[in-house]
Amino acid sequence: MKGRKLLMIPGPIEFDPAVMREMGKPTTSHLDPWFMEQFGQALERMREVFMSPSGQPFIVAGTGTLAMDMAGANLIEPGDRALVVNTGYFGDRFGALMERYGAQVDHVRAEVGDMPALEQVEEALRKQSYKLVTVTQVDTSTGVLADVKGVAALARQYGALAVVDGVCSVAGEELRMDEWGVDLALTASQKAVGAPPGLALVVAGPRALEAWRKRKTPVCNYYADFGNWLPIMEAYEARKPAYFGTPAVNLIAALNVSLGQILAEGMEARIARHRKMSDACKAGITALGLRQLPREHCRAHTMTAPYYPEGVDAALVGKIGAAGVIVAGGLHPACRAQYFRIGHMGAHTPADILAVLGALESALAASGYAFERGAGVAAAQKVFLS
Ligand code: PMP
Repeated sequence: MKGRKLLMIPGPIEFDPAVMREMGKPTTSHLDPWFMEQFGQALERMREVFMSPSGQPFIVAGTGTLAMDMAGANLIEPGDRALVVNTGYFGDRFGALMERYGAQVDHVRAEVGDMPALEQVEEALRKQSYKLVTVTQVDTSTGVLADVKGVAALARQYGALAVVDGVCSVAGEELRMDEWGVDLALTASQKAVGAPPGLALVVAGPRALEAWRKRKTPVCNYYADFGNWLPIMEAYEARKPAYFGTPAVNLIAALNVSLGQILAEGMEARIARHRKMSDACKAGITALGLRQLPREHCRAHTMTAPYYPEGVDAALVGKIGAAGVIVAGGLHPACRAQYFRIGHMGAHTPADILAVLGALESALAASGYAFERGAGVAAAQKVFLS
């Protein structure tokens, strides 16, 4: 018995051993030349991972919510209008956050599990002028993959900034910041980017920085203010020491290892691998007779959100755990008890997909659900071998 379970929730994920070894090294001074090199490299690599040669990366200690807060605090001034393309729980969060900074927020929504049509987004933009539009690329509460390219093009067309919550997508889903005209994208370390929780990652494009520079009012959040962090990021990229708040030394060094691995794999290969893992997982789920929360046309590749089948309830999550794999329960308030969530991003491998489907089959059998034994694993393996 290995005595440990495979972690397959949609973040935090399992991390590569080299990343964890980096975490465990003795902490150096944040002004040590070795650390300046790690930090500088991580910033340069972030530009490549976000596909944003023109962007300004920020690495700040905090969670994904801090990254969202940095977007809201720096881009919103009281009275600004913001449009949220809402596909779930994290769209609601972005709206609430921007309201806190004084924005008037409208939401374009769809049914739970769907994404609003681009026509709906355009209709909203035609009726009212907005300073910015936010979209959650993968809403972790629903597993919905939004059309970021389409939303960003509309935002540009109607003169609004395009802001992307990429917490459950960056380094797993296709996100071409510069090519698609995304003005700010953000994520957190613990998801497809592949380092333990604790870092907020933001890339701000030239239009976002210009909007921040043109503010008439001060940023109402001292810690999140770009003005405090921009000189620090610029200094570290120039391999020069600077201080505002103590950087999370070990986490940043570990992030740099992970970003190096991501770029060694190659962004295109990585996106394709995530698609394959997702296709295999979803084929297995379908073969077992389980439906999924997100509609077929908008399913994420970093996670899968199956409904419990008839006669099976949320106790299934514990049974999957007893079979050796940790998955997550539902999150969206409208249907929390009806579905569960499997994360498959970053260092996860095809073997992990087969393991989670195997554990799911054991749990379904233990729940008295009737299905063809082995069908889920076989369907996934067929995708991997195709
Ligand atoms: N946005 C999305 C899409 C997320 O999945 C999460 C975390 N699950 C967040 C924002 C918030 O990130 P954190 O929990 O790191 O604050």
